[in-house]
Amino acid sequence: MIAIIFGPPGSGKGTQAGRIEVDFHLDHLSTGDILRSEVARGTETGKEVARIMAAGDLVPDGLIIRIVQGILRDPNVSSDVLLDGFPRTLEQARALDQMLAEEGHRVDFVIALDVPENALVDRILHRAAVEGRADDTREAIAERMHEYHKLTAAVLDYYRKKGVRVEVVDGVGDVDEVFERIRRAIGISSR
Ligand code: AMP
Repeated sequence: MIAIIFGPPGSGKGTQAGRIEVDFHLDHLSTGDILRSEVARGTETGKEVARIMAAGDLVPDGLIIRIVQGILRDPNVSSDVLLDGFPRTLEQARALDQMLAEEGHRVDFVIALDVPENALVDRILHRAAVEGRADDTREAIAERMHEYHKLTAAVLDYYRKKGVRVEVVDGVGDVDEVFERIRRAIGISSR
């Protein structure tokens, strides 16, 4: 199963992805986490992306597509995957379709968390105080929102047009409440 969790910065998708991973036995693959770990380890990729990420911009499509391709082709990675933070552009979505088609797979469904923008900024600034992420500054947040609206929202339309199931879930509320809505939207009982 290939599922995607989708949502603007601060919509709680990382937290919910962690819950879905456990409940639905999917491997959580967060491109943001992968990139942050590259930066923390000081790898070549990390050096290349650190400044881009801190500014709230998207890293180049080619680079992120290569990273995801490497993971999905890894025989040790389960074929039941929850993608978090990818695809973020139409080019990434098309590349993902192609990668999956080569293996006879397709995207099964997309969960799109819906949270109003004022609630998002509050959540991110709260996270900044707790986790201290380099891109949780007001300037970077504004840029990430802008990127999301400019590029990423189009990815949802792309899937809708292709007939992929897109479930929009109200992301306002506490973690359990939102997770329960996701569970109902997915409509399959957890194992
Ligand atoms: P996230 O943890 O998903 O909010 O991602 C944090 C940052 O990592 C983003 O603001 C981008 O700079 C970068 N990033 C993560 N995933 C992608 C992607 N699929 N395409 C481009 N940049 C990404």
